[in-house]
Amino acid sequence: MEHTAEILSVGTELLLGNIANTDAKDVSEALSALGINVYFHTVVGDNPERVKQAVAIAKTRADIILTTGGLGPTYDDLTKQTLCEAFGKKLEFHEDIAREIEEFFLKRTHGMPLTKNNYQQAYLPEGCTVFHNDWGTAPGCAFEAEGKTVLMLPGPPRECRAMLHACAVPYLKRLSDSEIHSHNLHIIGVGESAVEDRLRPMMLELTNPTLAPYAKEGEVMLRVTAKAGSAEEAEALMAPVIEEVKAAVGDALYGIDTGSLENTILDILREQGRTLAAAESCTGGLISKRITDIPGASRVFLGGAVTYSNGSKTALLGVPAELIREKGAVSAEVAEAMASGARRVTGADVAVAVTGLAGPDGDGTDVPVGTLFVAVSDENGTAVQKHVFEIDRERFRIFAASRALDMVRRRICGLSL
Ligand code: ATP
Ligand code: MG
Repeated sequence: MEHTAEILSVGTELLLGNIANTDAKDVSEALSALGINVYFHTVVGDNPERVKQAVAIAKTRADIILTTGGLGPTYDDLTKQTLCEAFGKKLEFHEDIAREIEEFFLKRTHGMPLTKNNYQQAYLPEGCTVFHNDWGTAPGCAFEAEGKTVLMLPGPPRECRAMLHACAVPYLKRLSDSEIHSHNLHIIGVGESAVEDRLRPMMLELTNPTLAPYAKEGEVMLRVTAKAGSAEEAEALMAPVIEEVKAAVGDALYGIDTGSLENTILDILREQGRTLAAAESCTGGLISKRITDIPGASRVFLGGAVTYSNGSKTALLGVPAELIREKGAVSAEVAEAMASGARRVTGADVAVAVTGLAGPDGDGTDVPVGTLFVAVSDENGTAVQKHVFEIDRERFRIFAASRALDMVRRRICGLSL
């Protein structure tokens, strides 16, 4: 059976914009992974009347209502009371939870006495499944009534997330007889619109598995998701779709479930037993940052230089001053000299270099803003590519780093550049 869920986040601070609704994001992610359709996120303040209204609406359009927040001991924590009223349930006192709360208090506050309102948290809807809170004091719970499944999780994100995965997900799994499996297909070098163009008919047509694009700056990610009785069945459903994507985008598909381009490159270089270095101008260290974000990068990445001025290109990488004067800092020749210089200076097997004009202002030459040269150097020589990206400075830098990383990938995989 298909399930539809509504997430009801209770908290005035959410409405005031003091905090972002990260609980709803976490819950949505988990429910989607279970194959439960999340159709609405509702945010309502700590006001019983309006919470009641929101529940009444949720009842009409969802069979799972999951609330976050308002389970604590203070006067504005009214989720349980309101949900109980909405479903005609009473609150019951749980002796064992009262003891848990006392114990938690004793440990945390070194004997500070519990106030009466702390015992509020030991009252839960009659007949509910209790979600014990090992991460705080307010327990969560779940019950079924009027053909609906109601779940309540605490507001503090750490507690919400922990209880979600330890209690709510296993509880909800029982409702579903199918498993959801998915794969992320990472693509670079083909624009999002081109990918959509080639695959749109398939995306629209497919229902199981589904194929959907996800935005990723400078790249395209597609997620294929299948619902089936077992993992094997799901994989069998997804395999032909993955093949079709491969056929449509070719070697622009750089990985499946690899996480990122830098991950892919590091894996390949590690396997090849080779090392990498970077020389960066317009990316200001972004390439090196992305590579060193990955644990274990040191086994492959020897170092990177941010050579932002002409002088530093000469001093650190040995780019001839004359070459820069003659060809300009943003030129194919300088990019090549930076890459081969970085390789020589660090002793790396492969070096990548970028020089470009991120803008918004030009550099006083006739090189247009948005021009980028990327070079990769290895034992077989140095190759260079020119790109022009007419986009804002921030995106230009992200694109430049991605293109540089992709050029490394293509070179080390022996693909055409
Ligand atoms: P407590 O026992 O801490 O009172 P609670 O279940 O009553 O927990 P709230 O009082 O609603 O939860 O919120 C506690 C804190 O958790 C808030 O101050 C806020 O920082 C955070 N919080 C609440 N709801 C959300 C949400 N939807 N997303 C992110 N953070 C939230
Ligand atoms: Mg509270």
